Amino acid sequence: MIVVKTKEEIEIMRESALVVSRTLGMLAKEVKPGVSTLFLDKLAEEFIREQGAIPGFLGLYDFPNTLCMSPNSQVVHGIPNKEPLKEGDIISIDCGAIKNGFYGDHAYTFAVGEIDAETQKLLEITKQSLYVGIKEFKAGNRVGDVGFAIQNFTEKHGYGVVRELVGHGLGRKMHEDPEMPNYGKKGVGKKFIEGMTVAIEPMTNMGTHRIKQHKDGWTITTLDNKPSAHFEHNVAIVNGKPQLLSTFDFIYAALGIASNEEDEFRKKD
Ligand code: MG
Ligand code: MG
Repeated sequence: MIVVKTKEEIEIMRESALVVSRTLGMLAKEVKPGVSTLFLDKLAEEFIREQGAIPGFLGLYDFPNTLCMSPNSQVVHGIPNKEPLKEGDIISIDCGAIKNGFYGDHAYTFAVGEIDAETQKLLEITKQSLYVGIKEFKAGNRVGDVGFAIQNFTEKHGYGVVRELVGHGLGRKMHEDPEMPNYGKKGVGKKFIEGMTVAIEPMTNMGTHRIKQHKDGWTITTLDNKPSAHFEHNVAIVNGKPQLLSTFDFIYAALGIASNEEDEFRKKD
C-alpha cells in the first residue's frame, strides 16, 4: 500500500532528509586514507543524535551499526570495521536517520584520496543516473519509467545495474511501497501520484550486474570483484513534479565542488 504524505508531512520528512544530508557532509571531510569505517560510523552516530534524531539503520532488521559502509567491490550493506581506508579506494556510505517519526535515507560514494579515471567515471555516471531517474518520478508516470531511464542510461556506458536491490517508498517506515527498481520497462508498474515520497538509489557495477552475498548475512559484493557505486536521494512529488528532500550540498561545500545538478529539483519558495 502506498502511503501518500500531506504537505506538512513532506516538510517533516525534509528535516529527516536534511539530518542525513548534513551527516554525509560532515563525513565528506573525514573520509581519507588511514581512517577506519568504524571510526566514521561512531562520528555519524554522535552527529545524528546531536541533531535530535536517532540512527535509522542501527537495529533495523538487526543491522549492527549506524552506517552501511561498502568499499570498492562491495555494493551495499557493508558493516563498518577497523580496517583503514586506503588511497585509491572508493567508499559507499549509506546513512539513515529517524526524526519526528519519519525516516531519511541517503547515500553517496566517496573517493578516498586520488582514484583512477575509470573509477571516477563510474562514480560520475552513477550519480548522473540518479538524476535521470528522479526526472521520471512525476505524477502520471509509473515505477517502470524511472527504472527504464536509469537502466538505459547506465547500460549505454557498459555498466551493470544491480537487480536484487532496489529503491523504495519512504516515510514512517524505512521501506514502504512501492519498490523502485533501477531497471524496468516504460509505462509498467504502479502509477505515481501527488504526495508520494521515495528513495531512488541506483547501485551500479563497473562490470557484471551479478552480485554475491557474504556469510555475514549483510555484505553484498560484485560477482567479478570490480567496483560498485551507490547514490541515493529522497524525493517527493509536489505539484506533480519531483522535489528533492535530501541534498548533496553539504558534501559539495565540504569538498569545494560547484554543482547545479540539483537545481531543477529544488523546492521553489
Ligand atoms: Mg540508503
Ligand atoms: Mg534506501
